[in-house]
Amino acid sequence: MPIKNRLAETHDEITGWRRHLHENPELMFDVHETAAFVVDRLKEFGVDGITTGIGKTGVVATIKGKTNTSGRVIGLRADMDALPIVEATGLDYASKVAGKMHACGHDGHTSILLGAAQYLAETRNFDGTVVLIFQPAEEGGGGGREMCKDGLMDRWNIQEVYGLHNMPGLPVGEFAIRPGPLLASADEFEIVVTGKGGHAAAPHEAIDTTLAAAQIVVSMQSIVARNVNPVKRVVVTIATFETDSNASNVIAHTVRMTGTVRTLDPDERAMAEDRVRRVALNTAEAFGATAEVHWEEGYPVTVNSEQETEYAIQAARRVTDKVDTETDPIMPAEDFSFMLEERPGAYIFLGNGDTAMCHHPAYQFDDDAIPMGCSWFVELVEARMPAS
Ligand SMILES: [Zn+2]
Ligand SMILES: [Zn+2]
Repeated sequence: MPIKNRLAETHDEITGWRRHLHENPELMFDVHETAAFVVDRLKEFGVDGITTGIGKTGVVATIKGKTNTSGRVIGLRADMDALPIVEATGLDYASKVAGKMHACGHDGHTSILLGAAQYLAETRNFDGTVVLIFQPAEEGGGGGREMCKDGLMDRWNIQEVYGLHNMPGLPVGEFAIRPGPLLASADEFEIVVTGKGGHAAAPHEAIDTTLAAAQIVVSMQSIVARNVNPVKRVVVTIATFETDSNASNVIAHTVRMTGTVRTLDPDERAMAEDRVRRVALNTAEAFGATAEVHWEEGYPVTVNSEQETEYAIQAARRVTDKVDTETDPIMPAEDFSFMLEERPGAYIFLGNGDTAMCHHPAYQFDDDAIPMGCSWFVELVEARMPAS
C-alpha cells in the first residue's frame, strides 16, 4: 500500500494527537481547547501563517510550496467538534468530559489534517499554496457557513476545496466517492395546529386539533409518494407530535409537530418545502383549524464537482486500488456543503471498518485509517500542484 514512508513514521504521533482530542471533546463553536491544540501543532510544524477566530472558533493556516509559479491555492478542510453523547466504548482513552463524545470521528479528521500539514510543511514538494481549514460546529451549528461568511474563500484566494469523512462499514484502507450529490440537504420544520379545545364528550362543540394534525401527518406521506420524481430521493419525516391536552377527556386546543426534509436536489428541496406548507395549511383549514409552519433552512446538498472528484479519485488511487467511484449518496447532511457552494471541490469517504455507526455511543474511530487519510490529502496537493 503506497502510504508515504514519512506518514508511516508519524502514524503513532498522529494517533497520540487523536486520542488526546478524543479524551477532551468540545461541542459546536465551543472548541477553544481543540483549536488551541491545532494552533500549537501548526506552530511546531512551522506553517507560514495561522489565523484564528474565523467562523467564531475556526483556524485557517497556509503552507507555501517550494515554488509558486502555478499561483494555485487548494483548501483542505477538517471539522473539530464532538457530540452531546455519553460515551460507551470502554476505551482507556474514552472521553473525560461527561456527556460529550467524539462520536463522529472529527477527532480523527482533525488529526489526519494535522498529519498532512506536518508532512507538507516538512517537504513543501509542491508549486502553489495549501490552505488548512479547521472548522467548528459541523454538528448542526453551521460552522462551515460561518467560516464562509467570514470570507474564507476570498481572503485566502482558495480555488478548490477538499474534505473527507470516515465511514463505518467501509473497510479500512478503502475510499468511496461519487461526482454530483453525495449527502442530502437537511431542513427542519415546526407545524403548530390550532383548533378549539373542549370536552371529549362534546366534539361537535370543539374543533378537534388532534384529528386535524393527525390528518396532516398522513397527508404529508403523499409528498414522497406522489410529488417526488420517482427516480429522485426525498425524505419527509414528522418526528415529534405533542398535544396540549393532559387528560383523556379533553380535546386538545393546539398540537405542535416537528420534522425534517432531506433531498439530494435543490429543485426537490424547494418543491418539498412548498408542499409541506400547503398540505399543513390547507389540511388544517379543511378541519376548521389553522396551521402555522416555521421553516428552518439547514445544510444544503453536498455536491461534488465533476473535475475535482476526478482529482480526488486519482489521489485515492495512488494510495490504494480500493476506490469505489460510484458510491450511493446518503441522506445525512454535511456542512462542507457551504464550502462546495462557493468553490469546486470534492468530499470523500474514508473506510473506518466494522464499528457502530457515527453518532452511536459505541462508535470508534479506527486509527489505522489515519495514514490513508493523510496520504490522500498529500497526494492531492502534490498532484494538483506538481513541484517544478
Ligand atoms: Zn456527525
Ligand atoms: Zn461528522
